[in-house]
Amino acid sequence: MNLRTPGPIPVPDDALEAMSGPMINHRGPEFKDLLYRVTDKLKRVFETQGDVYILTASGTGALEAAIVNTLSPGDRVLSASGGAFGDRFGGIAETYGARVDKLSVRWGTAVSPDELRRALEASRDVKAVLVTHNETSTGVTIDLEAISGVVREFNKLLLVDGVSSVSSIPLRTDSWGCDVVATASQKGWAVPPGLAFLSFSERAWQAHSQARMPRFYFDVAAYKRSFENGQPPFTPTLSVMFALDLVLDRMLEEGMQSVFERHARVGDMTRLGMKALGLSLFADERVASNTVTAVNVPEAVDGRGLLEVIREEHNVVLAGGQQSLSGKIFRVGHMGYCTPSDVQEVLDALAVALPKLGFAPSGAVTKPG
Ligand code: PMP
Repeated sequence: MNLRTPGPIPVPDDALEAMSGPMINHRGPEFKDLLYRVTDKLKRVFETQGDVYILTASGTGALEAAIVNTLSPGDRVLSASGGAFGDRFGGIAETYGARVDKLSVRWGTAVSPDELRRALEASRDVKAVLVTHNETSTGVTIDLEAISGVVREFNKLLLVDGVSSVSSIPLRTDSWGCDVVATASQKGWAVPPGLAFLSFSERAWQAHSQARMPRFYFDVAAYKRSFENGQPPFTPTLSVMFALDLVLDRMLEEGMQSVFERHARVGDMTRLGMKALGLSLFADERVASNTVTAVNVPEAVDGRGLLEVIREEHNVVLAGGQQSLSGKIFRVGHMGYCTPSDVQEVLDALAVALPKLGFAPSGAVTKPG
């Protein structure tokens, strides 16, 4: 099966094998070595000298951790969103009692530094800015370097959803001044779901000392204390850590620049291939993501039916659209070890399936972005 959802993604065979290793004592010396080794490698991928914690959670848990560890009820935050995950990040802050100013951009576009600057000028008392580096629901990557520059001009805390970007698309945690970056194991890390990673800067620690939102399982102070003893605060998903240890070695051996370039190449290939089929891309191509591509379902075609045919007849699994985009777009994940031939299989399947479902590429009648 060619699993081309934007997470979970295929896991290399040797990483799957590593997961079948025997359990170890998570309070013993083997775990201590594993924890320090894996954390050290994670920091290299995050490009940070600050802290990185491994949480037993999915990406949403890490987003929740970013919020509850830095904010208090009543704090004002600016949540920039152009999709379902941006909305979720703001929603978590709201749930915990933050006053959330929303900077919403049209889905398929990216928040611009100028828009952010205007929003921050209008609400000077915000404490933190929430952004989604790579909006998986629309296939958009924001210019995080420029955005972080604006956040620094205003001296605000920057909390980043890097769930579908870190390890696949450059995200320079320290040099861009990202205070908290959240990501999850089932994305570009190419291991199964179950772990989330959270970077935490010095400024984030200062915010933590004032932050009064309720927290227990996700309190980074517990992670910090335990880390000093080479332990996790709670029982972690050990098998996923075994796999992670192995894929991180491979990633760092290849070199992150090469990893990023591979993603850019398959991203380009996917976009070009879709257009060659007569399909139109959902996202503004100038900000199109190199980990996930969102494609408009042609007017004549039933979006859900298309995914079913592709899965049943071609063994290719794609993702549909979320919320208002349900049935209107499909999404192709191309993170991790996605090869050009994996993408070609998707394109070949579409080339066969679409005409059967009533799409005539020459007519190229597609829904507007
Ligand atoms: N943010 C982004 C950008 C994501 O892509 C996802 C997962 N698709 C999440 C948050 C939520 O992650 P999880 O499903 O692991 O909780």
